[in-house]
Amino acid sequence: MHQPPDRSGARSLDPHLSRYAARAEGMTASEVRALFAVASRPEVVSLAGGMPNLAALPLDSLSQQMASIVAEEGMTALQYGSAHGVPQLREQICEVMALEGVHGHPDDLVVTVGSQMALDLVTRIFCDPGDVVLAEGPSYVGALGTFASYQADVRHVAMDEQGLVPAALEEAIAAVRAAGKRVKFLYTIPNFQNPAGVTLAVPRRAEILDICLRHDVLVIEDNPYGLLGFDGQIYPALRSMDRDNVIYLGSFSKTFASGLRVGWALAPHAVREKLVLAAESAALCPPTLNQLVVSRYLATHDWKGQIKSFQTMYRERRDALLAGLEQHMPPGCTWTRPDGGFFVWLTVPEGVDTKAMQPRAVTARVAYVPGTGFYADGFGSRQMRLSFCYPPPERITEGVRRLASVLAEELEL
Ligand code: PMP
Repeated sequence: MHQPPDRSGARSLDPHLSRYAARAEGMTASEVRALFAVASRPEVVSLAGGMPNLAALPLDSLSQQMASIVAEEGMTALQYGSAHGVPQLREQICEVMALEGVHGHPDDLVVTVGSQMALDLVTRIFCDPGDVVLAEGPSYVGALGTFASYQADVRHVAMDEQGLVPAALEEAIAAVRAAGKRVKFLYTIPNFQNPAGVTLAVPRRAEILDICLRHDVLVIEDNPYGLLGFDGQIYPALRSMDRDNVIYLGSFSKTFASGLRVGWALAPHAVREKLVLAAESAALCPPTLNQLVVSRYLATHDWKGQIKSFQTMYRERRDALLAGLEQHMPPGCTWTRPDGGFFVWLTVPEGVDTKAMQPRAVTARVAYVPGTGFYADGFGSRQMRLSFCYPPPERITEGVRRLASVLAEELEL
């Protein structure tokens, strides 16, 4: 008799278990994803998700433009395109990157389905199972998931309030060498890091590049937040300082619209061809219509003004979060003070386990992401990521108040 499928998630009940490739073993739901269902209940203040806030977008004029793209260029917009991406968009992306001092050639740029796909492609072409990848500790959960799915061996490198620590990088490379292995690449988010909210100090940038060059370590620079500095400040991209040893990943998810899924990779010329071939095998080509929407938007909208209004909106939310933390957090808590991006990284006193505390926080109607999700090695139990991008300032303030009272109870204050 036909049995209904078991949805309990118990691995042993999966009749396909013996069929999976070894790499599927590393594919597990991230803690961020598992949290989505509870965190999206209206009574819960979610400081968990990293969803960009689209409230400031000019939806009316965008919808008119989308309609006219289909009317005027429908035969192109609704057709397959090149795996490389739409040529005019690649040129425009080079203009966007020039704001950060990057002078890339459109031919060396591959348009991807979000920078997440670019991360996947880069890992696919460089990593065999067991290969060592260095990443900041903590690091972006989506990148860690991708590295795990290719069975890479992730080693974390310490950060401080000035970003990745050069001496720690040097040590990590030496330790890998001493074990007879080689580092395939360093994955870094230099600006307004996800999840730590810190930015790599400018003098350290050259130092990090120099270390990587000396030790023959490729650099993957992931920079979705670089234009979201709250005072309009823009830091020079690592790629602007080294065009041969850095692959730069960019995205319109945070500066325009995440749902269009348009990102890119700018690679050294020699790597570009492999990236295009990998992109072709993954998706044939990125969606033409979405690329044309982004292209038209860049050509006709005041996109720099739009980014400024995003900056203002996120700055107000960051201010609400920091003020709330200052006012309500129990003694012994410390946190980062981001000057851009979406995230604050909070460290709680010894004795509190942020993962164990999470259900109690949800009962108190506030959600965060426990720190362990941002490490490949189980570290982070006294940390959590708080995002300030989505809820309005007054909800953020209320969320912090709730979080502080849960923490006070944990600490029996
Ligand atoms: N890198 C980082 C650091 C991110 O925070 C994100 C999105 N949260 C991505 C890459 C992926 O972004 P997208 O695929 O939307 O471009």
